[in-house]
This record gives sequence, structure tokens and C-alpha cells, in this order.
Amino acid sequence: MTHQDWLRKAQTLHIESRLFIEGRYVDALGGGSFDCINPSTGAVLARVAQGEAQDIDAAVASALAAWNDRRWRRLAPRERMQVMNRWADLVEQHADELALLETLDMGKPISDMLNIDLPEVLRTIRYFAECIDKVEGAVTHTAPGSLHMILHEPLGVVGAITPWNYPMLMAVWKLAPILAAGNCVVLKPAEQAPLTCTRLAALFVEAGGPAGVFNLVNGLGPEAGRALALHPDVIKLSFTGSTRVGKLLMGYAGQSNMKRVALETGGKSPQIFMPDLYDLDAAVDRAVGGIFDNAGQVCNAGSRLLVHRDLQDAFIAKFIARTQVLYQPGDPLDPATTLGPLASQPHQRKVLADIARGQAEGAQMVMGGTQVALPGTYVPPTLFVGHNRMAIAQEEIFGPVATLIPFDTEAEAIALANDSVYGLAAAVWTRDLHQAHRMVGALEAGVVWVNCFGDGDMTQPFGGYKQSGNSRDKHVDSLLSYMQTKSAWFQVG
Ligand code: NAP
Repeated sequence: MTHQDWLRKAQTLHIESRLFIEGRYVDALGGGSFDCINPSTGAVLARVAQGEAQDIDAAVASALAAWNDRRWRRLAPRERMQVMNRWADLVEQHADELALLETLDMGKPISDMLNIDLPEVLRTIRYFAECIDKVEGAVTHTAPGSLHMILHEPLGVVGAITPWNYPMLMAVWKLAPILAAGNCVVLKPAEQAPLTCTRLAALFVEAGGPAGVFNLVNGLGPEAGRALALHPDVIKLSFTGSTRVGKLLMGYAGQSNMKRVALETGGKSPQIFMPDLYDLDAAVDRAVGGIFDNAGQVCNAGSRLLVHRDLQDAFIAKFIARTQVLYQPGDPLDPATTLGPLASQPHQRKVLADIARGQAEGAQMVMGGTQVALPGTYVPPTLFVGHNRMAIAQEEIFGPVATLIPFDTEAEAIALANDSVYGLAAAVWTRDLHQAHRMVGALEAGVVWVNCFGDGDMTQPFGGYKQSGNSRDKHVDSLLSYMQTKSAWFQVG
């Protein structure tokens, strides 16, 4: 479709803005609502029902009833698999609608929605659907006369709280394994981008998912999110978002029922460019994409570029030239656009303040800083040269801002890379296999790429070391993390 087609389609788009509880759309009990704003125009897209603690109570009660009468977990694995696969099919049939909703909601380029987010959403649901009947327990070797089995069982009512940077995808990374394992779920999406998740819940029921198994409450984090995290009937809370809020959630779990808390949090990922790397052009392209895709609003964004001093000048020149070719800001509804606005005005203000702070602390800004001549919440791609102790190298900016830090030796590069409270991802560019192997072992990160960046598929566990989190999304391990083992001991002789 062309830019004009998308603009026309946006005019007639129906936006559902209510909560979804017990298999149907409902208004918030308190009658409140909040504005959902299109960041590329500032227009109010919808007034979204604002769920509060009483709505969370209703959603958890619905999920608990579904758990207790076993309407989902008692289905044979193949039946659950069929529902999940029909759900994926419906998402695929509604791809244009969902892509448009999310582009309007958070400013992500429509091409990214169609080529990156939606295919990955489908892969995720179908992968975990396929896993359902592959989970096996064990019979252990015990004394004669006894039989001992280890059984995997779902947990119960799981809460999920998700961010706005990949609103649908981050939610599905939770929902698919939670549901595949046989649990019931209450999802609280981010207030900045709740519209696609609202549709996902209804499509699950349309696919044959029983009412009450997947409930959704939109609302504000400190109200609805906090109520979910404190709820005594929620057995596990699965969170993607900032490290700051992740720490709060661990506290809420301790104050309530000691629920399990799975955290996927922030990052400040280093990419290390060794002087012997194969192809500087290819490496620079991945450096540019690693920080400017999704306008830098990516948890594993390669925001620290550790570049060997011999490469520094050539690297910077190529980086600036390639950014100008690859990342021109534009209307996110234009399929040619690769750089959209940031997700909200407060976030734009924060990122601009971070850029000003970089300048104030003496980093050299070699690219960026100019205003973008568009009405939305744009921030231009920005590159600093600085050192690793600067705030711009230590704190997550979550925007299109990279800091290049020169180094001289492998040991120095590793020390710089690990000098961070975060440990989500890292990359090494070198043609020396021994060096690559050594560095993979030395880097404190949950994901390490060698001669690439951001690659992966559903077989790759994704999650962080240190304050980047304590859990993993994707991979069959994620499914198992929404189950618990039961040890069944039979006296048979
Ligand atoms: P955020 O501010 O932490 O918000 C995430 C979610 O938590 C939102 O739904 C938010 O609700 C909710 N929340 C806020 N305060 C809360 C509270 N007191 N109690 C319960 N819930 C609360 O993060 P964000 O700005 O949406 O997302 C960006 C962050 O996510 C970055 O740090 C990024 O690195 C991280 N992230 C990590 C991964 C990963 O896999 N490790 C992936 C993507 C993003 P409201 O928004 O409605 O207030």
C-alpha cells in the first residue's frame, strides 16, 4: 500500500479503547479514561478506559475462575495448540489493522510493523503453540517398590506488565508461553500504546480461547500496574520495562504474596569493533541500525560503540554518511520512512535533555543536534564521542543517541564493556576466532553477537545479566518458566 492508502485507511479505522474482561469489552468501573496520542501529529486518537485497582480485581477474579474450573488447562495439548494457531491466523488476517493501530499509537514506521514486528509476533505464537505437546516430565530411578515422576504443571493466574517500544511484540513474548503452558493471564500494557494489545485479547477469544483466560486492563502503571503486582491471587508477574520499575515490582511481590517476578529490563549494550574486523562498511551499517532502528527505543540498542583507536576516524565518517542514507525522519505512515517520532512528548523531552547533558559533560557531538522539521516528537540521530564514565554512556537514553568510546587493547575494551550496571547484550567485531571466543566468555551480557548485531530467532533465549533482568523470553525455557514441577511419589511394591 502507498502512503496515501495508509492515510485513507487511518481515517476509517475503528479504535477499540475499552478493557477486555471475561471474554468481552467492558468500560472501566470508575468510568475514567486517558488520552491516547498519535506522536507524529499530537492528535488524540482515542480516550482509553482507565482501569484501576477495582478493574484489576475483576480481571484477576475472572482469570482465577477460569483457572479453578480448568476450562483452559484441561484441554488436550492439541486442542490448545489449535486455538493458539487460529489466534496467530487471525492476527495475520488483521495484520494491516494491527500495523496501522500501532503506527498511529506509538509512531513506529509502518514498514517496520509489517516487516519486523508482525512476522515476529506470528513466529512467537506459532513457536509456543508447537511447544505445547513437546514438554515432557520424567520418571526417575528410585528404590524398588517405588515409582517417582516429575510432572510439569502450569502456575495459575499470571500477571504481565509490558512497555510501549514494541507494544504488541513484547506482550506476545509473554502471552504466548504463558497461555501455551495452560495458565490464565491478566495483561497491563503501557499507557502510551495500548491499542494493539486490546485487539489481541479479543482475537484470542475469537480464535476459540475460553472467556476469562486472557484478560486485559489498560491503565496507569502506579495504579493498575501496581494493583496487579500487589494482587494476592497472582502467582507470577512477568515484566518488561525499565530497571527502576522492575525494582519496585520486586518490592510489591515481597509486600504481598511473594509471587515470582520475571524481569526483562533496561540496557546499555556495547558493540566492540576490533582493528582486524573483516568489513568496516558492513560493521558500520550494523552499528547504525543497532542504534537508530525504532528510533533507538530498543532495550538492546547498541548505544555504546567501543571503537579501536586505529579505526576511529574512518568509522565516524562512514557512520555519519550511512546514517544520512539509512535514517531520514518522515511520516511513519509513509512506507519509505525508516525513522519515526519518539513514542511521546515526555519521552522526547527526556531524550533531548540527555543530549544536552552529554554536551554539558564535555562529550563531542559529531552528528545530530539539529531540529527535525516535522511536527511530531522527532529527535535527530545523534553521535557523541566521549568516555564511558559520562552519564550518556552509563544511563539508558532509549532514543537515537550513541556514544563512541575509543580504546587501545582487548582488555581495555572488555573492561569498558563490562563497566555498566546493565548486561543485556553485546557484540564483538573481529576476524580472529580465538579472540572472539575469549571475548564472548569475558563479556557480562545475556546475549553476545559476533560479527553481527540483533540477529536471532525463537530458539534464542533473550534476557539480561546484572540489572538488565533475571529471566529469559523466547525459547522453550520461557515456556517452562511459566510452569512448576510436581514430584509424585508412588509406593507400588
Ligand atoms: P516503564 O516505564 O518501566 O513501564 C513499563 C510498564 O510498567 C508500563 O506498562 C508501565 O505502565 C508500568 N509501570 C510503571 N510504573 C509502575 C508501577 N509503579 N507498578 C507497576 N507497573 C508500573 O518502561 P517503558 O518506558 O514502558 O519501556 C522502556 C523500558 O523497557 C526501557 O528501560 C527498556 O530497556 C525496557 N525494555 C526491556 C526489554 C527487555 O527485553 N529487556 C524489552 C523492551 C523494553 P504505564 O506506562 O502505563 O505507566
